[in-house]
Amino acid sequence: MSEYDVIIVGAGNAAQAAALSAKESGADKVVILEKAHEEMRGGNTHWSGGILRIAFDDSRMLKPFLPGVENKFLNFYDGIQPYTKKRYKEDLLRVTQGRSDPELANILIDNSYDTVKWAVEKAKIECEPACSVCGVLVNGQWTFPGGVVIRAKHEGKGLSASWFEASKNAGIEIRYGSGALELLQNDKGKVIGVLSKEKDGLKKLYAKAVILGCGGFEANSQMRAQYLGEPWDQAKVRGTSFNQGDGLRMALSIGAMPCGQWTGRHSTPIDADWPDFADRERGDQSNRLSYSFGIMINRKGLRFVDEGEDTKLYTYAKFGAEILKQPGGKAYQIFDQKTVQHLEPRYKTGEPIVADTIDELVEGMDIDDKAQALKTIKEYNLCAQSANNFDPTCKDGLSTVDLSLPKSNWATKIDEPPYEAYPTTGGITFTFGGLKINSDAQVIGTDWRPIPGLFTCGEMVGGLFHYNYPGGAGLVSGQVFGRIAGKSAANEI
Ligand SMILES: Cc1cc2nc3c(=O)[nH]c(=O)nc-3n(C[C@H](O)[C@H](O)[C@H](O)COP(=O)(O)OP(=O)(O)OC[C@H]3O[C@@H](n4cnc5c(N)ncnc54)[C@H](O)[C@@H]3O)c2cc1C
Repeated sequence: MSEYDVIIVGAGNAAQAAALSAKESGADKVVILEKAHEEMRGGNTHWSGGILRIAFDDSRMLKPFLPGVENKFLNFYDGIQPYTKKRYKEDLLRVTQGRSDPELANILIDNSYDTVKWAVEKAKIECEPACSVCGVLVNGQWTFPGGVVIRAKHEGKGLSASWFEASKNAGIEIRYGSGALELLQNDKGKVIGVLSKEKDGLKKLYAKAVILGCGGFEANSQMRAQYLGEPWDQAKVRGTSFNQGDGLRMALSIGAMPCGQWTGRHSTPIDADWPDFADRERGDQSNRLSYSFGIMINRKGLRFVDEGEDTKLYTYAKFGAEILKQPGGKAYQIFDQKTVQHLEPRYKTGEPIVADTIDELVEGMDIDDKAQALKTIKEYNLCAQSANNFDPTCKDGLSTVDLSLPKSNWATKIDEPPYEAYPTTGGITFTFGGLKINSDAQVIGTDWRPIPGLFTCGEMVGGLFHYNYPGGAGLVSGQVFGRIAGKSAANEI
């Protein structure tokens, strides 16, 4: 006999959405298994910036998320352009090079607004405008050029804490230090529970349905080497150290179908001085995403990307990878006084090299070819523009002229001291390879039939993200497919 109606493996955003959804859909005994001990709970969700990308036709549709915002920011909604489903889809398809699964993409986008509203109400998630990461202040008015406006207050920490509180209040049991090892099946192939490693040994836990919401393999260096290849085994991990690919391994071993880009991952430029596994307290402070207002130089003294190709929310996830591919996995971001004012506040958590001349700046940098670095900056300055038409709020078209590797926007000369150089590397956030699901979040087997009793959500869903992802879509995907998985699992009772 099953001791539970629904077992949910994992305790991040997707799993918690699934748990509350299962509960409200009629499942009585719902349990969350969290492999981490209580002090390390919550997965990448805890580390995240809490940014939520939702579609809205009118800026005032954001009112339920931002009560009272106009008291703090006068005429707040006047500065926000609608972010329609059409635009969301265009952005998703553009950054994923047209590879996002159309069915999953539509489910994500069509449900984004309603589901986040549901989650915010259900878990009492407080939100705020995502000014410091996604906003640009022009003449006292906030604008949000990338389409993303809201985030959870206190970022991922606030979001995760709200989910745990809501689950507790809903009577959902949370077993800490309970790491699922295997899926249990009956003779008919239905998933009927999990074998879990708990503090006092191995335990079999039975349920009428199991939902896997236990993340990707980003924290597992062997799996990174296996699927992502060099140099990903050496990447610093931006989030939890507990996402070791367990759920994917368990599901594949009973015949689940792999889906999506298994060589793909989300990564970002981060402070090169961060530890191999990110610090839990500092959460999402490692990012160095203001490169579009400067240039990046590697150990050979060379630029290697068009830093101004697009606004940061559409390039940061792939530029992390580009930095990691450079010699030593490292690059410096260089700014002058015209642009340092536009750096995200997170840059304050790092220690830049500061110098009054370009020569002194380069001398202080830990790179192999300093002469080439000087040459690169000189060449860039010859082809860059004055800052008269510089506009940080949009792609300003201020591009280099006749530079072999162009910078397409925000290409102003680096000529106003003191200069600043920030050491950066590529940190891995999460992996894109996942499991094939249907529109009910049921896991599909390699025989193209659903595996009875098994559902998944969050980072474990394959097919949505390829090459890149539009920032803020990860958490929303977790809530959308988590909510669906919870409802579907409750139907198994
Ligand atoms: C630094 C950082 C910033 C980010 N910022 C944003 C952002 O602003 N907006 C956005 O949309 N996305 C952001 N992301 C991505 C986002 O955090 C993830 O997409 C999302 O949190 C994934 O949710 P999840 O529930 O699938 O997984 P997670 O939140 O990672 O949860 C996985 C859970 O599974 C548990 N677990 C693992 N293995 C087992 C096992 N065998 N048994 C039991 N439990 C297990 C883990 O301990 C954890 O509780 C960010 C990520 C990072 C790291």
